[in-house]
Amino acid sequence: MSSSWLSLEEALAKALAATHAVSDVEIVSLFSAHRRVVAQDVVATLDVPPWDNSAMDGFAINAGSYNQGQTLIVQGIITAGEKASTPLAVGHAYKIMTGAPIPDGANAVIMIENCGSDANGNVIINEDPTPGQNIRPQANDITKGQVLIKKGTQLRAEHLMLLSSQGLNEVVVYRKLRVGVVATGNELAAPGELRSNTQIYESNRVGISAILSDENVEVIDFGIVEDDKASLTCLFNQAADPTSKAIGNHVDIMVSSGGVSVGDADYVKDVIEAMGHIEFWKIAVKPGKPFALGKLNNTVFCGLPGNPVSSFVTAKLLVLPIISKMQGRQDGHTALTVTAVLTKDIKRRAGRRDYQRATMSYDDNGSLVVTPFKTQSSGVMTSITSANCFMIIHEDISTLAIGDTVPVMPFT
Ligand code: AMP
Ligand code: MG
Repeated sequence: MSSSWLSLEEALAKALAATHAVSDVEIVSLFSAHRRVVAQDVVATLDVPPWDNSAMDGFAINAGSYNQGQTLIVQGIITAGEKASTPLAVGHAYKIMTGAPIPDGANAVIMIENCGSDANGNVIINEDPTPGQNIRPQANDITKGQVLIKKGTQLRAEHLMLLSSQGLNEVVVYRKLRVGVVATGNELAAPGELRSNTQIYESNRVGISAILSDENVEVIDFGIVEDDKASLTCLFNQAADPTSKAIGNHVDIMVSSGGVSVGDADYVKDVIEAMGHIEFWKIAVKPGKPFALGKLNNTVFCGLPGNPVSSFVTAKLLVLPIISKMQGRQDGHTALTVTAVLTKDIKRRAGRRDYQRATMSYDDNGSLVVTPFKTQSSGVMTSITSANCFMIIHEDISTLAIGDTVPVMPFT
């Protein structure tokens, strides 16, 4: 077990090298595919749009044969879902609705707002028409045969709409990851139940589950386990034993909180090390120093610190990238970081990268400014609920002054 401190990048690189992507695939309805990961390239089988069509409600004309000031006879009306039965005749216009196919012989659509009519109901055009105007050409968006969505893309609403536009109602995705969540600690009582006067209510499982659920993984709640080697051994055995799949306990990743530090009751690392292997367990990140990454059989083990703020931070910074890799994502996503102007002086001890909980907003000049929450203790949960971003202080920096530019990572 290595006990040296790793930078966040080193820890991530080691964690990703030690984990593998799932390979099993399944077909799911688009209605349940949000945030699932596509397992093969999706190729377009249809042009979109399938024909030249009108981008406006208006009149379809032939710009080449039209003379300025001429009135045009209305040949008919084409609504979306219909097609003109006869080509546009010279001196005529078709009334046309958005999405309707452009009739043969027409090459421009004049928006209805720029048209008038004479006493006989003929159309007057109040602009100089240009060929092609207000026409959405066939295949302008998608051409049959092009790769629409690459393997390894995590599907979002916009991808689902694109797949739908191809007439698809299902998609081939990697199987869902099974992720176990457990809280360790003798002092923890389950919310909704009575607690003794030495216990606190447990808060990490529900938060970690929510963070994980955003990635559409299957979360399996392993409850609360005591700081006891035998109980932890039993728990991890179930989680990492493929034969316990039948009773629903086997998981791809086990995320625990608590018990990974150097306290007298911190047995989690020792138990994992005795059963499998710990890759590392100290990272130079604040909050979140003790974060253990290990493996038991094929199950990846992420041991988060117990302090709720630390477990929130490490779940976002480390567990999410591991989930992405294991889900089969190859879309190179990274958490967005922007810069903001600091509103207060900061002095701190250098050495760890600090993810301070902070609020960013625009000031009267339109500049993005950031103010760290007043208390940065990892035991203060309101520091996360009051914040809307992390303000990141690099490990080498010990002082910052009002007006300095700092990186911030918005909460998503
Ligand atoms: P540990 O990492 O086990 O040393 O715990 C650090 C601190 O976090 C202690 O004050 C614990 O009581 C607290 N803690 C640990 N797990 C949880 C949890 N699931 N919910 C709330 N607080 C916790
Ligand atoms: Mg503990």
